[in-house]
Amino acid sequence: MSKKRVLITGAAGFIGSHLTDYLLARSYEVIGMDNFITGDPSNLEHVSSPDFTFIEHDVSTEIELEGPLDKILHFASPASPIDYLELTIQRLKVGSLGTHKTLGLARAKGATCLLAATSEVYGDPLVHPQKEEYWGNVNPIGPRGVYDEAKRFAEAMTIAYHRYHGIDVKIARIFNTYGPRMRVRDGRAIPAFISQALQDDPFTVFGEGRQTRSFCYVSDLVDGLYNLLTSGCNEPINLGNPREMTILELVETIKKMIGSESPIEFKPLPVDDPRVRQPDITRARTILDWQPKIGLEEGLTGTIEYFRNKLGIS
Ligand code: NAD
Ligand code: UDP
Repeated sequence: MSKKRVLITGAAGFIGSHLTDYLLARSYEVIGMDNFITGDPSNLEHVSSPDFTFIEHDVSTEIELEGPLDKILHFASPASPIDYLELTIQRLKVGSLGTHKTLGLARAKGATCLLAATSEVYGDPLVHPQKEEYWGNVNPIGPRGVYDEAKRFAEAMTIAYHRYHGIDVKIARIFNTYGPRMRVRDGRAIPAFISQALQDDPFTVFGEGRQTRSFCYVSDLVDGLYNLLTSGCNEPINLGNPREMTILELVETIKKMIGSESPIEFKPLPVDDPRVRQPDITRARTILDWQPKIGLEEGLTGTIEYFRNKLGIS
């Protein structure tokens, strides 16, 4: 029997590169696609499988691919809030035009298309924890709007292709995920605090640090994505770790684990920064038989190790 052929957009990024490893280990043939706007070729340099090919391409433009295709995982998109100011139009384009191109390809090939959606579709949520039924509280013209609205449009486009063209779609609403292969200067909370602690720099805490997040380790996320990809579920589904904490608690945990003496430097809270975030994962538990297994300290241990190596700190 021939191997299933999968396209991963954003394959050189943090989650995309872990998905590449995961699917190759399960005997899929993987085509990775990326334009390296926030990704890094070094995330894929360990991949030596003959079942892997890579195409450098901007998925916001027409995607041409020869041969059959069983599944597409659409992960291409800048994801860190620090990119909001720089990569605004690219974000909107990859969420809208890029999603349209991947869905068009899925339709032409009869492939399943899984969209990397996000907890940002809930914006600064007025319902807590967030269930999939909640429609969200998003400011379309705020600085985060370029990300949130692009992903909301991507969900609308994805479900429309399911309803009107009958293609099989999956919508994963991914909550804050962390792990090895995030960029050192990614700007997101965990890479920022780990690299600050390792380099004796002050911890940059935005606002008073009382806002909450719930952090999922990447191997748990990839397990959940795979269960979703191979399920019959076409509805949006939350994937994340329900353990919620304040940003100050996160800093204290990282500080203790690294033995850092860095002080905290409070900085202004970014506009529209969500005050709380915690996934209700009842749907994932019930439909996908999935829940995270890796605790925060365990996940941080591997992530700290990765950043130590990246920064050349022994
Ligand atoms: P990342 O920045 O490491 O990876 C994104 C990848 O997409 C990069 O390699 C980048 O070069 C590529 N890319 C961007 N625009 C492209 C384009 N037009 N054409 C081709 N490639 C393009 O970020 P990540 O954390 O791995 O996120 C991956 C996906 O998961 C994103 O869609 C993101 O929105 C989503 N997501 C991530 C999280 C998280 O916590 N990490 C949470 C929710 C959703
Ligand atoms: N944050 C912070 N200092 C940093 C980076 C992030 O205090 O150097 C805060 C940020 O304001 C947010 C939370 O940490 O409240 C998570 O930020 P991240 O960028 O990781 O993801 P978000 O959930 O905002 O998309």
